[in-house]
Amino acid sequence: MMARHLQGPQGESLRREITGQIKPYLAFRNELDAFQKARFKDFCTSACFNDKTSACCSREGIVTFFADALINAVISTPQQINAILDAIKSPRQDGRCVYLSNTGCLWQIPPVVCALFVCDRLERQILAPNQGVRKTWQAFQEKRKSFTWPDRPVLFDDLEKLFIEKGLDSPLMYLNKSPGLLKIKAKAGLL
Ligand code: SF4
Repeated sequence: MMARHLQGPQGESLRREITGQIKPYLAFRNELDAFQKARFKDFCTSACFNDKTSACCSREGIVTFFADALINAVISTPQQINAILDAIKSPRQDGRCVYLSNTGCLWQIPPVVCALFVCDRLERQILAPNQGVRKTWQAFQEKRKSFTWPDRPVLFDDLEKLFIEKGLDSPLMYLNKSPGLLKIKAKAGLL
């Protein structure tokens, strides 16, 4: 549905509007990626990926927000979107995430919950003994809230509302459907 809205001349202007809106979020994700590469990559490669014991991308439930999917759709090529749609149509059967391919995640910008996931082992061996790294990691967690947590106007809510106004409905619109998040918005005077 999102991809359809982003097609054609009208879709192009919508895409431009959203691209402008998400610039600070993309900068946040770039910064987060750079930090993870510098601080976690070697550990993750030797601790999990080499011996295939990684539990990343195999959790039972991954909370994907509407805005996660929309941001990814906006920056993806039609081929990249088709690869995601194909994966949904023929889901893998090994208990791992439907979006995990042989070359990694099919999303260009994976959901924010994935980006900020750390396993218990990394928590114990990298974050706990290194207060500086932990502090930076916590700062990233806080920064995430400035895009996703509706105790103030946030990008993830704005993007849901943009498409609600266009008549689109999705169960992933948690910022406008989840009773818990609606309560937070009400408390902040945002309803
Ligand atoms: S969406 Fe991507 S990063 Fe997130 S669990 Fe699935 S494959 Fe892994």
